[in-house]
Amino acid sequence: MVGVSQAVPQGKELPETVVRNRSQYAKTLHRRDPDADEPRPACPTRKSEHDYTEVPTAAYRPHYKLCQNPECFGGEWR
Ligand SMILES: [Zn+2]
Repeated sequence: MVGVSQAVPQGKELPETVVRNRSQYAKTLHRRDPDADEPRPACPTRKSEHDYTEVPTAAYRPHYKLCQNPECFGGEWR
């Protein structure tokens, strides 16, 4: 019987690496799309034609914000 409605979110931990747009103006970190060979955001932002690069989360997180798309870090990381 399922009486507990509080969902335990998967992926509470930040991944060790994330992807960011190569643009110097980009200030957002995205979760890496696990299905892609190249570093790409897991969210719909990946459809843009920008190049993305994989970076270590710990080094970038203090200076960047986390993407708020649900596919990335939406809601969990304010
Ligand atoms: Zn994203």
